[in-house]
Amino acid sequence: IVNISDLNHYFGEKKVRSQILFDINFNIKFGEIVIMTGPSGSGKTTLLTLIGGLRSVQEGSLQFLGQELSGASNEQLVKVRRHIGYIFQAHNLLDFLTARQNVQMSLELHKNISEWEARSKSEAILNAVKLENRVNYYPSDLSGGQKQRVAIARALVSHPKLVLADEPTAALDSKTGRDVVTLMQKLAKEQNCAILMVTHDNRILDIADRIIQMEDGYLVKEVCHLPNG
Ligand code: ATP
Repeated sequence: IVNISDLNHYFGEKKVRSQILFDINFNIKFGEIVIMTGPSGSGKTTLLTLIGGLRSVQEGSLQFLGQELSGASNEQLVKVRRHIGYIFQAHNLLDFLTARQNVQMSLELHKNISEWEARSKSEAILNAVKLENRVNYYPSDLSGGQKQRVAIARALVSHPKLVLADEPTAALDSKTGRDVVTLMQKLAKEQNCAILMVTHDNRILDIADRIIQMEDGYLVKEVCHLPNG
């Protein structure tokens, strides 16, 4: 689903231009769960935002669903983003909307469906993340783990081909973090959706099919390949 070759990335202009990503080569297959680890500042978020079509590719090749993103127009990037779900460290829910409305809004933005259908799909996926009793709650009345589950529901309700998750458990205690990623894994497997997740959380590494490590802008190694059901 993602094919990256010889990808380089830079920040800044001319004299103060510094290279952030060096010769990145890697692929993500359909339905695969890949975890990306590495020290702070090693370029993980930059790589994630490039793959997500949130930043322009400067050098090298990055293909998503067979489409080259290098040189892609803004309109093309907007279309690419419709196939991607995003989950961030801070859940980024809209505080003035209920859990259901947050999920439903994402669906209505992406797809041309009736309000009734959007509503019933949103309720179904909130059910799947075990929030059936919280659909009408506002984010301020939900716990950290519940908010992150709403964020997962919002990311997956439109059946994306890929979910990009940046430190989704960072604000959670370890048990809640594990519950949240296990739910994310289950839903993604059911939908044959690939996941690329950045995490420092060693306790959740076992959900991955593959683990890759970044260091100083280089993809240094694949740590291991886990047999995963
Ligand atoms: P963390 O785990 O702390 O989020 P990271 O591995 O995700 O780190 P990035 O956020 O991708 O790393 O940052 C990689 C490098 O790029 C860092 O040295 C950072 O200071 C630099 N950087 C990130 N964004 C910008 C920007 N907009 N302008 C200039 N430099 C940037």
